Amino acid sequence: MMIWNEALRVVLDHALPLGPEMGPVCSSSEGAILAETIVADLDAPPFDKALMDGFALAGESPAFNEGWPLVNAVYAGDAQSGRLSQGHACPVATGARIPDGADRVVPFERTQKKDGILQVSDIPLSESFLARAGSDYRAGEVLLNSGTVLGPATTGALAAAARTAVRMIPIPIVAVISTGDELVEPNRKPMGSQIRNSNGPMLLSAIHQAGCLPKYLGIAPDCPNTLKNLILEGLTHPVLILSGGVSVGEKDFVRPMLETLGVKVLVHGIKLKPGRPFLFGITQKGGLVFGLPGNPTSALANFDLLIYPALLAMRGYTNPGPHFQTGIMGEALFANNNRPTLRPVGVKPEAGEFIVKDLGAKGSFELGVLTRSQGWLELPMGQWDIPKGSEVRILIPKLSAMVATLLQNA
Ligand code: AMP
Ligand code: MG
Repeated sequence: MMIWNEALRVVLDHALPLGPEMGPVCSSSEGAILAETIVADLDAPPFDKALMDGFALAGESPAFNEGWPLVNAVYAGDAQSGRLSQGHACPVATGARIPDGADRVVPFERTQKKDGILQVSDIPLSESFLARAGSDYRAGEVLLNSGTVLGPATTGALAAAARTAVRMIPIPIVAVISTGDELVEPNRKPMGSQIRNSNGPMLLSAIHQAGCLPKYLGIAPDCPNTLKNLILEGLTHPVLILSGGVSVGEKDFVRPMLETLGVKVLVHGIKLKPGRPFLFGITQKGGLVFGLPGNPTSALANFDLLIYPALLAMRGYTNPGPHFQTGIMGEALFANNNRPTLRPVGVKPEAGEFIVKDLGAKGSFELGVLTRSQGWLELPMGQWDIPKGSEVRILIPKLSAMVATLLQNA
């Protein structure tokens, strides 16, 4: 049986980005990876501009002893004004195109007007409070490299360069199927030994958190025929995730049905607690298929450790993780693990450290504990007395994705 790092390697070897496509630059392209080099079409700023409300001055001393004679004001958006003569002042607003001949701007607060003539108490150094054309970047300069993660600033820069659409790596659709005869949808009251399908919505949320587009396909009972139809639909998407039915019970039809439908299973069973039954396969077209155990903690542990990085890799991230952090045990913990373990724990940031609190998780069936958990404590196999204050490895999925973003743009 593979250890989880080996399984991750196999998964990442197949988690390839979809071919780049032109896509609109909009709120939903946040987090997308740019797949072309962006060159500025204009100087920025495009003209010499005032950075303060005040007065553009020509030179460091006034034309007359009484002060600086004033010419007509220029506001942001006004057409180019004439040339400002030596020793004269021109009222300007922030963002206004300053007249030729001006070599500094004095903020309003440092001035006074007497009989229509400007007095300046503290004349700024040459080039103060103004930005010359092209001083931010020049036309023809590379603004953004291919591989950049789009975010607020880069989106603004694209707009400034007139790029309303760019080549980017498409966001994959990830299909989800819940399996199990015992499942009813959340809006139904479970009877007898039925339970509500909590994994479906949980996985949709996790997929969204990983920046992908979730698509829920429904519940498949433990019956090969319905399962077959749903899996066939799921296989039309770049990624399919199934929960439940992936162990070796008599009614666990997921693996045989996937194989019947041409999926090549590359991983089935890993040394991890919880989440041992983890299954990973690929379709002939290179689509990814994941089978997760039905227990919520197992399913989410598998997702955060193995699927989240795969989805980031498909989105074009070159360091998809998982990126573990160092945590500090806030209390002593005794662990006795017959497999490498991910334990749901509380994580509290305190004075620049992540303080880890054990939640007394008892088993993979618990959803309540998961709701109080902010991360996973990774523990190797064996018996461990972990004293309070010791350093441990923790995984916080969203933070791991943030590290992937920082590495991408570094
Ligand atoms: P399985 O992996 O199918 O053997 O299921 C393991 C456990 O997870 C069983 O107790 C199932 O009832 C439970 N389970 C399976 N699917 C779901 C689901 N979609 N939501 C919540 N619990 C589930
Ligand atoms: Mg089942």
